[in-house]
Amino acid sequence: MASYAPKYPRGLERKYRLELKLRADLLYRVTMRILRSFVLKADSEEWRDDAILLAWLKRALDAAKALFNGQFAPDAEEVRQTGSQVERHARHQAERSVAAAKRGQAHRPRLNIPYREGPILDAWVNENVKLIRSIDSRWFDDVEKVITEGAREGRALADISRDLQERYGVSKSRADLIGRDQMAKLNGQVVAKRSQSLGVRRYRWSTSKDERVRTSHEKREGKEYSWSDSPIPGQEIQCRCVAISIFDDEEF
Ligand SMILES: [Zn+2]
Repeated sequence: MASYAPKYPRGLERKYRLELKLRADLLYRVTMRILRSFVLKADSEEWRDDAILLAWLKRALDAAKALFNGQFAPDAEEVRQTGSQVERHARHQAERSVAAAKRGQAHRPRLNIPYREGPILDAWVNENVKLIRSIDSRWFDDVEKVITEGAREGRALADISRDLQERYGVSKSRADLIGRDQMAKLNGQVVAKRSQSLGVRRYRWSTSKDERVRTSHEKREGKEYSWSDSPIPGQEIQCRCVAISIFDDEEF
C-alpha cells in the first residue's frame, strides 16, 4: 500500500517562533526606552538626587511590568488560533495519508474525520500562555537584578546596558526554543489522536535523518510502533521526528 509521509507544519512553526521572539524584542525595547529616559534625567539639573532617580526608574519598570501583565498580557485567543491552524494542518495531512493508502482502489477514501482535539488544544493553550508569561517575568527579573546590582556596584550605564543586551539574547533564544518545542509537541499529539480516530493502529517512526537527531531516536528510524503503547514522536525537547501512519488492508 502506498504511504504518505506527513509534512511537519514548518510555516506555522516559523510564524510562532517569530511571534515569541518579537515579544522578547518588545520587552527589550520598552526597557531600553525607560533606561534612555533615565539617562536624560540623570544628566539634567533637576534630578540630582540618586535615590529619587532610582525610585523613578523602579516606578517606570513596575509600570512596564503591569502593562505586560494587563493590556499586553498574552492573548489566549491568539494562541488558540495558532493551535487550531496546527490542527487543520494535521487533519489535512491525515486526509492525504488516507488518500495515498486508498489510491488505486475502487471505492473513494472515507475522509470525513469526526474527531475534534478540544482537550489537547485547551491544555496546549494554557501551557503556552503560561510559557509566554514566563518570558515576561524572567525578563523583568533579569532587568531588576542587572540594575540593582549595577547600582550597588556603581557600574556605568553603558555596562548595565551591555548586560541587558546580553540578557535580551538569552531571552530571545528561550522564546525561540519555546516556539519550536511547543509546535512539535502539539503537532505530535494531534497527529496521534487524529490517526487513532481514523482507526490507524500502527505507525512508522521517521526522523529528520540528519546529525541533530538524538541517538535514541536514530535507532527508531523506520521501525513500526503501536499507538496504544508507544511514545508519540516530537514530544521530547527539540525532537523533530514524525509518525507515518500504517494502513492495513483489513483495517480499511
Ligand atoms: Zn526525535
